[in-house]
Amino acid sequence: MTYNINDKGYYGEFGGAYIPEMLYPNVEELRQNYLKIMAEPSFKEEFDQLLKDYVGRPSPLYLAKRLSEKYNTKIYLKREDLNHTGAHKINNTIGQILMAQRLGKKRIIAETGAGQHGVATATVCALMGLECIVYMGEIDIARQAPNVARMKMLGATVVPALSGSRTLKDATNEAIRDWINNPVNTHYIIGSVVGPHPYPDMVARFQAVVSEEMQWQLQEKEGKTTPDYVIACVGGGSNAAGAFYHYLENTDVKLIAVEAAGKGVNSGESAATSALGKEGVIHGSKTLLMQTGDGQITEPYSISAGLDYPGIGPMHAHLYKTGRAEFISITDDQAMNAGLELSKLEGIIPAIESSHALAVFEQKKFKPEDVVVLSLSGRGDKDLQNYIDYFNL
Ligand SMILES: *Cc1c(COP(=O)(O)O)cnc(C)c1O
Repeated sequence: MTYNINDKGYYGEFGGAYIPEMLYPNVEELRQNYLKIMAEPSFKEEFDQLLKDYVGRPSPLYLAKRLSEKYNTKIYLKREDLNHTGAHKINNTIGQILMAQRLGKKRIIAETGAGQHGVATATVCALMGLECIVYMGEIDIARQAPNVARMKMLGATVVPALSGSRTLKDATNEAIRDWINNPVNTHYIIGSVVGPHPYPDMVARFQAVVSEEMQWQLQEKEGKTTPDYVIACVGGGSNAAGAFYHYLENTDVKLIAVEAAGKGVNSGESAATSALGKEGVIHGSKTLLMQTGDGQITEPYSISAGLDYPGIGPMHAHLYKTGRAEFISITDDQAMNAGLELSKLEGIIPAIESSHALAVFEQKKFKPEDVVVLSLSGRGDKDLQNYIDYFNL
């Protein structure tokens, strides 16, 4: 049993590239080149340099003393919230912009829902001086005004998706249409471990820097490279993939994936894909997704915009199906309270996505001698209005 991808682009039965024929040349060009390019010394050097000097890596592995005391176990926070632009997403967009350059692309497209991936993409396009077009549902543009303003300041063109529900899936359709029409000069930056092969694997490899650092940081602090548990929230699954990556095949390390239950798994307003999802195809890969009896994708809901996604990446579908990772779903209320608790106990205001992972400590007991590493995927600045409204601050 392996938990990593096989040479056909599958994690167990999940993954693959289920794409329209007109997209085949683009995806195939990437598939044939991504591993070769990532292995080039000059690529590795430039990637590492930018992660260090531009993103601010390595991100600290912080022993949260007061949080550990409260839950009577040893909790380390992997501080992706301290990265430039405030989350882990930049690790991937740095990798993909370098990939696009090596492939000779001059134009970058992306789709975004909450705007976080759009901002991370616009950031690296500004850094490299490449044209950037971000597709975003008209409804999301209205809901996420600060991120739209950031993208514009960074020089990106934000194109509203006006069809369908005017949210993320419609923006994705527009981006795919653009890529079909511009197969030669354009690279499509996908923001999580989703999409057709090789995207899930490529994004996981770029995010793998997170667990690579965890290994030597734990060696320094605990005298061993492995923790007992790694906990991470899952929207599409990229911060979790990065935090799990170097531990996937070591089953002594227990993996916990945290999904958004919204108003409750059975409330009809949820994004708990593993609990509610069935096998199907979304964004070009076979995975678990929330769908109606006749296969229409169900509109997901979470208070956290970054977890509000109807599927999970194929790696996580496989981790769920095989039982390699334990999946826990956390409601809006549980997450919001965990976010407030971390703020008061540690002086760290987390992104609401990360607050879902933090809420696990109220749901599950750990032993005092356990070493638990939690991926603090992002900071809460972007969520301030949500916290204000929820707690009447
Ligand atoms: C986008 C985002 C997520 C969810 O995306 P994954 O691909 O599942 O990691 C989680 N946390 C933060 C802070 C985000 O911005």
